[in-house]
Amino acid sequence: MRIEGKHICNNQFDIDCQHEYEWMAIIPNRASDRTYDVETIDKTQGQIIQKTDGLYTVKTICPKCDQDNIIEHEE
Ligand SMILES: [Zn+2]
Repeated sequence: MRIEGKHICNNQFDIDCQHEYEWMAIIPNRASDRTYDVETIDKTQGQIIQKTDGLYTVKTICPKCDQDNIIEHEE
């Protein structure tokens, strides 16, 4: 399973970037899942760093300026 979305770069260092890009992040399968889906990586890949109450916090790297971007994504 995966989540994805669009994001406009809001890095802390280069306020002029504003590059819009599509991102995705893979949600690890639970150990109890018997099926194993192989997801295609076709967008900027993010890393889920936190999940609370259906809200994912995802870290991505802007493909234009290479700076970290933190995205909050509702489930
Ligand atoms: Zn950027």
